[in-house]
Amino acid sequence: MNVIYPLAVPKGRRLCCEVCEAPAERVCGACTVTYYCGVVHQRADWGSIHEKICQLLIPLRTSMPFYNSEEERQHGLQQLQQRQKHLIELCYTVAQKYIFEGKHEDAVPAALHSLRFRMNVHGLSSVELVPAYLLLAEASLGLGRVVQAEEYLSQAQWTVLKSTECSYAIHSLLHRNLGLLYMAKENYEEARYHLANDIYFASCAFGTEHIRASGGYFHLANIFNGLKKLDLADTLYTKVSEIWNKYLNDHYQVLSQARIQQIDLLGKRFETDTGLDEAQEAEAIQILTSILNVRESTSNKAPQKTIFVLKILFMLYFLMMNSSKASSPRKAANLKQREKFLWLDSAVLSSCTSFCPQSKPSLQKSSDTHNISPVLSPTAQ
Ligand SMILES: [Zn+2]
Ligand SMILES: [Zn+2]
Repeated sequence: MNVIYPLAVPKGRRLCCEVCEAPAERVCGACTVTYYCGVVHQRADWGSIHEKICQLLIPLRTSMPFYNSEEERQHGLQQLQQRQKHLIELCYTVAQKYIFEGKHEDAVPAALHSLRFRMNVHGLSSVELVPAYLLLAEASLGLGRVVQAEEYLSQAQWTVLKSTECSYAIHSLLHRNLGLLYMAKENYEEARYHLANDIYFASCAFGTEHIRASGGYFHLANIFNGLKKLDLADTLYTKVSEIWNKYLNDHYQVLSQARIQQIDLLGKRFETDTGLDEAQEAEAIQILTSILNVRESTSNKAPQKTIFVLKILFMLYFLMMNSSKASSPRKAANLKQREKFLWLDSAVLSSCTSFCPQSKPSLQKSSDTHNISPVLSPTAQ
C-alpha cells in the first residue's frame, strides 16, 4: 500500500488560535479540541459559530479509533467526510445569515470555518472554496476593509479561472460580490457591468424570475437610486418586489390550502415553511425592508407601491412564523417584527391584491377569511 497515514498529533505541531492562527494559550473547556490566543477571540468565536458546532468538532479533531477491518476503516472515513460536509453547510448558512443581518463581525469566524472545512474535504484549489471566499469578501466589505475584500475576491476569481467545471451559480455569486466591491469603491460603471453579469448567470442557473436572480436586480436598483436615475431604480425595485411576491404568494396559498384540509381531517395544526433557509429569509427581509424604506420616502407619488411591499413582507413574516424549522428564540424575534404588521387585516390585504395582477386570481380561489384568520387568531402562535 502506498498510502501514508498521518499521525494524529504530528511531531512539532503547534496549537493555533481558531480565529487568527497565532500560538494558542487557551482551550475551549466544553470540547477541549479548540484553541485560542486569548479570551477575545474565544468569545468572538463562541458568539459567531462555536456554540453551535462545539460538540460536533470533537469527533473531527480526536484521532480515529482503531478499526479491525478495511471495511470499517472506510466506513469511519466516510462518516468523517459526511460530518465535515454538514459543518461546511452549517457554517456557511450561519455566516450568510449574519451578513444579511448586517452583523459582519460575527460572520467572519463562521465563514472562516466554512473555508477550512472546504479545504479539508475538497483540497486547496477546488472551486468549492469559492463560496467561502466570497462570504469572507462580503464580510470584509461590510467592515470597511476594502483591501482584504479585494484579496479574497482575487483568490475567488483565480480559483474560478483555473476551474473547468464552475457552475453558473458560482459565476453569479462572484460577479455579485465584484459588483458590491466596485460599489464600495464608487466605481459604478464596473459595478453595473458585474451586476449585469450576476443577473445573466443567475438567470441561466435558476431562471429569470427566480429569487436567486433578485439580488442582482436589487443592487443594480440601489446604484440607479444613488445616481438619482429614479425611473430605472423604480422599474428594478418593482421587478424585485414582483419576484418575491410571486414566490411568497405561491407558498402562502399552499399553506392556506393545506391548513384548511389538515384541520378538517386531523383536527391539528398544520406546519410548513417558507422553503427558504435562514440566510435566504434574512436576505428577503433585508431586500424587502430596504425597498419598503425607498417606497415610503416616495410614497406621495405612488402609495400603492408601498402597500404592495408591505403585503409581501406580511406574507414573509406570516410564513416564517409558521415555519416548522423555527427555533424558539427566532420565533420570539419574528413575533416582535410581526407586531408591525398586525394592523394589516384582511380588508387591507385584499385591497392590496387588487393592483397586483399575479396574486389576484389565486387569492380569489379561497375566501379571504380562510387566508387571514390564522394570522389574527391567538392559536396561530
Ligand atoms: Zn486569535
Ligand atoms: Zn468547544
